Amino acid sequence: MVETRLTLARIVSPHSVAVIGASDDVGKFGGRVIHYLIKHGFPGRLVPINPNRASIRGLPAFPSIGAAGQVDVAILAVPVAHLLRQVEECAAAGVGACIVITGKLADAGPEGAALEAQILAVARNAGMRLVGPNCLGIFNMTDRAMLSSSLVLEAAEVKAGGIGMVSQSGALMGTLVSIGLHHGAGFSRCISVGNQADLELCDFLEYLVEDPATRVIALYIEGLKDPARFGPLLRRARAAGKPVLCVKAGRSAAGAQAARSHTASLAGSYAAFAALCRAEGAVLCEDPAVMVQAADALDRLPRLPAPGMGLAVVASSGGSTVTTADMLPAAGLRLAEMGEATRAEMRRWMPESHVHLPLDTGSFDDGTSEAGLAACVRAFLADPDIGAVVVPMTTQPAMAARAALFPGLCREGGRPVLFVMTAAEVGNAARDALRQADFPFYDRVSDALGVLRALEAEAEGRDRAALPPPARPPGIGHPPRLPAGALTEAEAKALAAAYGIPVTRGILARSVEEAILAAEAIGYPVVLKGVSRAVVHKSDLGLVKLNLPNAAALRAAYAALPDIRLEGVLVQEMARGEAELILGARWEPGFGPMVLVGAGGVLVELLRDVQLMPAPLRPEDAAAMLRRLALWPVLDGVRGRPALDVRAAVEALVRLSWLAADLGPRLIEMDLNPLLLRAAGRGAVAVDARATIGGESP
Ligand code: ADP
Ligand code: MG
Repeated sequence: MVETRLTLARIVSPHSVAVIGASDDVGKFGGRVIHYLIKHGFPGRLVPINPNRASIRGLPAFPSIGAAGQVDVAILAVPVAHLLRQVEECAAAGVGACIVITGKLADAGPEGAALEAQILAVARNAGMRLVGPNCLGIFNMTDRAMLSSSLVLEAAEVKAGGIGMVSQSGALMGTLVSIGLHHGAGFSRCISVGNQADLELCDFLEYLVEDPATRVIALYIEGLKDPARFGPLLRRARAAGKPVLCVKAGRSAAGAQAARSHTASLAGSYAAFAALCRAEGAVLCEDPAVMVQAADALDRLPRLPAPGMGLAVVASSGGSTVTTADMLPAAGLRLAEMGEATRAEMRRWMPESHVHLPLDTGSFDDGTSEAGLAACVRAFLADPDIGAVVVPMTTQPAMAARAALFPGLCREGGRPVLFVMTAAEVGNAARDALRQADFPFYDRVSDALGVLRALEAEAEGRDRAALPPPARPPGIGHPPRLPAGALTEAEAKALAAAYGIPVTRGILARSVEEAILAAEAIGYPVVLKGVSRAVVHKSDLGLVKLNLPNAAALRAAYAALPDIRLEGVLVQEMARGEAELILGARWEPGFGPMVLVGAGGVLVELLRDVQLMPAPLRPEDAAAMLRRLALWPVLDGVRGRPALDVRAAVEALVRLSWLAADLGPRLIEMDLNPLLLRAAGRGAVAVDARATIGGESP
C-alpha cells in the first residue's frame, strides 16, 4: 500500500486547486467550477488547466496539470473518454486528490465499471485519493472552497455554519443545501461521494466527527460499502457530542425478500439499519428536507431537555392553534400538561376559561398583548412538562416584529422554540427578520413537527447513551449441540430453554400409544403437533391439534393428522395466555445479531407490528421496544383488562438477545411465535419455536 498523499481534511480544505478543462464559458462544467470557486472567494491558489488558452478568468492557464506545479486537489469534469489519461497525468504530476465529477462509470454498467477500476488502480498506485466519480464535488463553506459544479452555488451567499453533510446523491445534496440556505441554516462541509470508488461515505463521516467546524452531521445513504464501520462511527459521533441524522433509501423495499421465517420477512436490511440507528442514537428521517431542517435545529436551537415531554402550541389565530394541535398525535407528539406555575402566569393575562393549551393569543384580555405573549412563552419554557414551544403564525399585523420576539425568548428559556411562518410571500418580512437574528423558521407546520420528532429521537439517543452497557442475565446454561439446517420445534425450544426462556413442556412420541403415555405424564388437556423439519407453518397443514381433553380426543386427533411424512408427534401441555407475542432473532449480514418483538400468532405478517434492535439488549431497551408496539395498550391493561406480565416478556427478550449475540452468524434466524403472555406476575411461555442454524456445529 502506497502512502496516501493527502489527509481528508486537506482534501476538503485544499491550499491549491486545479480545474481540468477550465473555461470562461459558465455553460460548460469546467467553466462553472472555476466560476463558483472565484465567486465564493476561494482563498488558495487556483490553477486553470486548458491547452488552448493562456488565461482564464484573468488567471494564468496551464496546458497540462504536469506544467502547473504542486497542486493539492484537481477537479475533473471531462468527457469520460479522456478521464483515464487525465487521471494518469494527475497521478504523475503529484496531485493529492482528484474530485471526479465525470459520470457514466460503474453507474453505467460493466464497461464503465472496468474503467472505474482502472482509474482507481492508477490513483492507488500513486497514493492519490479519489472523490467520486459521478459526484458533484465538495462545498466547504467554512473555508470558502466550493469544489463543485452544483447549481446551488448560484446563490449569492452560502452561509457557513455547523451542519456537515455527506451524500450519495450530488443533486439531492445541492437541493438540501438550497433548502437549508432558504431557512437561514449554515453549513460546514458538504461532500458528495458519488460512486465511492476510493473514498466512501464512512471515510467522510469519520472526518466530520473529527472536524472542529462541524457540530451536526446529516447523511444521505443509498447503501453502505462496509456497514460494520457505521455503528462504531455513530458511537464516536455521540461521544463527540455531534448528533447524526440520516435518510436511507430503500425503505419501501423492506421485507420484500422472500422469507422462510416470520423474523426474516419482518426484519429486512432497512429495518436492521433503522434498529442500528436507534441503538446508537442516530436520528433516522424519512424526508430529506426534514432531515436538513432538523440538522439546522440541532445546530442553532437548544436541544430538548429530555425525551417524552409535551409541547406548547401558541398562535394568534384559533384556526392555526387548533389545526396544529390536531396534527400532533399522528406525528407521535402530544400537548403538554401544564404545571400550576404556568397556569398562574396565564391567568394574569386571560380569563380562566382560556387557560389551556393550545394557547390562542386572541384570548388575551388586552388583545394580542406582546407583554402577555412573552410572559406566557417564558412560563412555558420553564414548565416541567414542556419540552418545546411551537408557534404557527398566520397572517396578522406586524408579523416581522412579532416573529422577532422569539429568538430572545428561546435563548433565555434554553429550550427549542419552533417558529412556523405559515403564510407565503406576505410572510417574507418575518422570515427576513429571523434570518437576521440567525434563528430557524419553518414554512409548514408538518415540517416543524417532523423536526420535533427528530429532536425527540436525538433526546432519546442521549438518554440511552447514559445507560450502562448490557449485562448478561444469570443462569444461562450451555447451549445444546446444534445441527446445521432447520431445527425441529423441540430442538429450538431446547435451545431457548438453555437460555432460561420458559417453553411448554413436551414429549416426542412415535405412535399413538406413546402419545397417550406422554399425555398422561404431562396432564390433560394437551396439544398434539406433527413434527417435520420441512414444514414451516404447521397449522396451515393441519398439524396442530389444540386443547385435547382426554385419550379419546387424542386418538381422534392423531388419526386426523394429514398424510405427510412425519418424524413423530409432539405432545405438549396446553398453555394459556392473555396475548400472543412474537420474539425473533436473526443475523443480519453487515449489521450483526438483531432481535425482534411484535404482535404474534398466525397474523404476524398481516399486522407487521414489530420492533427491531441489535442484540444484546438491556432490560430498558426491551421494555422500550414493547412500549413502541401498537399492541402496547393491550400489554399495559386496557379497558378493564388486566395488565400483562411485561417483566416476563422483557426477560425472555433479553435472554433471546444473548442467545443471538452468543451464536452470532451461526443463528441464521429464530422465532418464538407465539410467546403467550399471562397476567402480571404469572409469567410467559413459548408454545412454538423455530430456528435455522448455519455452518458447522462447534
Ligand atoms: P405454527 O406456527 O407452525 O403454525 P404453532 O405451534 O405456533 O404452529 O401453533 C399454532 C397456534 O396454536 C399458535 O399460534 C398458538 O395460538 C396455538 N398453540 C400452539 N401450541 C400451543 C400450546 N402448547 N398451548 C396453547 N396454544 C398453542
Ligand atoms: Mg407458531
